Amino acid sequence: MSKIVFFCIPAHGHTNPTLGVVRELVSRGHQVWYYSYNMMREKIESTGATFVSCDDYDMEQKLTPKDATRIGKDVAFSTKIIVDTTLALDDTVCDAMEKLKPDCIVADSMAIWGKAVAMKLNIPFVSSTTTFAFNQESAKIMKQGLGDLFKMIFSMPKIGKDIKRLQDKGYPINNILDIIQNDDNTHTVVYTSPEFQPCSDTFSDKYAFVGPSIRPAEGEITKTKDKLVYISMGTVNNDMLPLYKNAIAAFAQTDYQVILSVGNLVPLEKFGDLPENISVYSSVDQIAVLQKADVFLSHCGMNSVNESLYFGVPLIMLPQTSEQGGVAERVSQLGAGIKLKKMDATSLLHAVNNVFATPSYKEQATVISEGFKRCPGAKGAADKILSVCDSPS
Ligand code: UDP
Repeated sequence: MSKIVFFCIPAHGHTNPTLGVVRELVSRGHQVWYYSYNMMREKIESTGATFVSCDDYDMEQKLTPKDATRIGKDVAFSTKIIVDTTLALDDTVCDAMEKLKPDCIVADSMAIWGKAVAMKLNIPFVSSTTTFAFNQESAKIMKQGLGDLFKMIFSMPKIGKDIKRLQDKGYPINNILDIIQNDDNTHTVVYTSPEFQPCSDTFSDKYAFVGPSIRPAEGEITKTKDKLVYISMGTVNNDMLPLYKNAIAAFAQTDYQVILSVGNLVPLEKFGDLPENISVYSSVDQIAVLQKADVFLSHCGMNSVNESLYFGVPLIMLPQTSEQGGVAERVSQLGAGIKLKKMDATSLLHAVNNVFATPSYKEQATVISEGFKRCPGAKGAADKILSVCDSPS
């Protein structure tokens, strides 16, 4: 039996794909401890893992879901968060790890404190990557400037000081890239298929593209019209009342059933009386909705896109961050959706009509879905983690 410790940031999109993996490890008789934040307690405990709250140690900075998603985008901010969190957790987590002697640490690619602890204590490590894996080849395709990122990292004196704080505490880290970057020697689980990941053949065999980990639906939804349009901007940056109002205006006169998930930041009273074909919720069982949906108007968070394509649902894409822009770019390259620049009612309606009138969007979504279904999923991720427990190098 192996002892495995997970670390994650407080974001559903980064936590959800790991839940099936943890469940799989527990069902095979392994012990799992999961360091995360109180808002995730219930879903983590439901897997059979022992939840350990970082809120108790990380009192001062109180990492919020919004902060969490800034990690990896804003380099100076990320470094500060990574260093502060690592140091806040240092004593307790290092003590706990020394007592527990885990066979492996699995950390989300943005919960970099997990990787830092593994490096410091020389514990076998697996990176859990819920977006695309990143190297110079995939960066080219995704149109992200790695060069600019590197230049910025080295030109920031403040970052040097932060790194020194880690070194003083015994972390073997020379620069921020040592922990931010996953090189070809880092064991990495990526929750997408080799076909959907750009340039998957340029990654070493330490990378396991296991496919999306799709949780089961909690129930079933009723389809009331021939076509069902689902709209969600995810769980973090979803305070987008004008977009939701445009969507209601666009689809009020159509014969489409429309389900809008608007998050907790927009009060439902703001919508007043709704047309009979449109329903608005703070949150929905997205898997149940996607099992019946015909098109998904999405911000292109990696999980939403994976879930949509898993069920062969084409996308209309309104990315809000560069990471979401990369995912939207890939969907668009593979012909499974349309990227939109404008969010007015006419553009929304036109895009939805276009997807319904052009069968290739649905066909390409189905091709990607078939690739996802060939992947080993949570079982494959568990196999990868256990192989690192058994032979770490
Ligand atoms: N989600 C859900 N119900 C909703 C909206 C979202 O269950 O009403 C889930 C969705 O299935 C996905 C996650 O929340 O697993 C959102 O993750 P994603 O990476 O798409 O976006 P983020 O919220 O991190 O921006």
